[in-house]
Amino acid sequence: MDHEAKDFIRQRIEHDLAQGVLPAGVVTRFPPEPNGYLHIGHAKSICLNFGVAQEYGGSTFLRFDDTNPSKESDEFVQSIQADVAWLGFTWSTLTHASDYFEELYKFATDLINDGKAYVDSSSAQEIREQRGTLTEPGQNSPFRDRSVAENLDLFERMRAGEFADGEHVLRAKIDMSSPNINMRDPVLYRIRHVHHQRTGDKWCIYPMYDFTHCISDALEGITHSLCTLEFADHRPLYDWVLDNSNVNFHPPQIEFSRLGLEYTVMSKRLLHRLVEEKLVDGWDDPRMPTIAGLRRRGVTPAAIRDFCARVGVTKVDNRVEMNLLEFCIRKDLEDSARRGMGVLKPLKVTLTNWTGGDEILPGKWHGKDESLGERDMPFSGELYIEQDDFAIEPPKKWKRLSPGEMVRLRYGYIIRCDEHVCDDAGEVVELKCTYFPDSRSGSDTSGLKPKGVVHWVSAAHAVPVEIRSYNRLFRVPDPSATSFLEDINPDSLEILQGFVEPAIVAHEDTHFQFERQGYFCKDSKLPGVTIMEVSPRDGLQNEDAL
Ligand code: ATP
Ligand code: MG
Ligand code: MG
Repeated sequence: MDHEAKDFIRQRIEHDLAQGVLPAGVVTRFPPEPNGYLHIGHAKSICLNFGVAQEYGGSTFLRFDDTNPSKESDEFVQSIQADVAWLGFTWSTLTHASDYFEELYKFATDLINDGKAYVDSSSAQEIREQRGTLTEPGQNSPFRDRSVAENLDLFERMRAGEFADGEHVLRAKIDMSSPNINMRDPVLYRIRHVHHQRTGDKWCIYPMYDFTHCISDALEGITHSLCTLEFADHRPLYDWVLDNSNVNFHPPQIEFSRLGLEYTVMSKRLLHRLVEEKLVDGWDDPRMPTIAGLRRRGVTPAAIRDFCARVGVTKVDNRVEMNLLEFCIRKDLEDSARRGMGVLKPLKVTLTNWTGGDEILPGKWHGKDESLGERDMPFSGELYIEQDDFAIEPPKKWKRLSPGEMVRLRYGYIIRCDEHVCDDAGEVVELKCTYFPDSRSGSDTSGLKPKGVVHWVSAAHAVPVEIRSYNRLFRVPDPSATSFLEDINPDSLEILQGFVEPAIVAHEDTHFQFERQGYFCKDSKLPGVTIMEVSPRDGLQNEDAL
């Protein structure tokens, strides 16, 4: 990558490295709150934070921002670690904001001693009113001028558990007339009598994000604190806390755009609702934009990393097209996935002149990569082809089967459709065909030139599988945050009873391209039983199938 192509964050890091202001190298952190599963938006932040540390020989902390115990759980803590590792990144140190509770308390006490923080006994509603609006300045709290001694005493008793939730808060004493509402005496600590998944019942006061985050960054020596754009207005507060605390390091906060993706939602609040209201089958439902869902769907870590690299890092929020993610998924599997035969909607074919027993045909696992080898494909007089590969009245330029016409069975023989059998409802249920014994692929002397090639499996040998074909979870590219449930796509899951050739089931690989169909993977939860469609078929460029 040349210099011009580098994003503004990498340019900044290179500048800092050149200035010699980073004696310990680049240090970044990824700071998730353990209140949900990670989603592809988090992947962007992970790829950025871990990516720059890797590129410039630095290190990255994985820090759990666990200051809001009522919404956090160990299940989320575990899943986040698993997801970061699965994406291919290694943290230098695992920390928790709660590791610093004692130090944070000390820094808060120092602010009180310096006359820069006070205990406010106003209610949450009163504080909200005091802080004013964008057009109206704030009003001082009646408790703003409490003495240092009284503040220290009250703050100690808050910690000791003498007060109920909401009775008091600790606020920074900054400027109630600041045009930036974040600077109008923000709350630093609140009382919450709730059990914390790590510190248990040791604390009943918890520090707020704006106080915790910057101090944690400083204590860890984070050289570039990268966060999303909505925190730009918090930057003066980030700097104020560090300028007024006795920390020996002051990281710069640098904001970048949040990732949005079409046809899905990314906020954890909305994802929680999808799970809780059972609109999806858990956090790892393959339709979810979560890392766990994408993994179960069969998306590879390399595809997600490529996607994040292509999206890039800018200062402009936008919703990225789903097509880009799908492109990255196919691109990654294109070279690596073995090709095999899978029939999604089976139509029985009987070869009326077949007299032999079973035959074994060789088939390459990949048309362009000999090193992936071959597999044996059993062939017999009863086959399944795709229902869509037959038409009684074919459209113009039809390259598949129709009455009286011929096709080649991929790697096999040429067949001609002599008769189609319909059920009472008029649905075609079976084709009776003639095969041409001298037309076998590789030793074809028949001189016949059928227009098309179709995929097939041998009925007696094929393995029945449930195939889950996923569509977008939402019908619209930009589901509304307020009425997003109305935008849910009712047809996001289609379950098919299909067949795959036995070599696919027997092979240790999880991902395959079904010839002419797209990419599929064995379900990690129900291997051998369920096969997932990795990316939608439309848009698949599958030249080597023909
Ligand atoms: P939510 O609003 O869904 O709760 P969050 O930002 O509060 O998301 P965190 O767990 O705090 O979730 O996120 C951890 C890190 O991931 C933060 O640094 C945050 O900026 C980043 N992040 C979260 N969502 C996105 C996104 N859509 N695009 C880029 N970065 C993101
Ligand atoms: Mg959040
Ligand atoms: Mg957050």
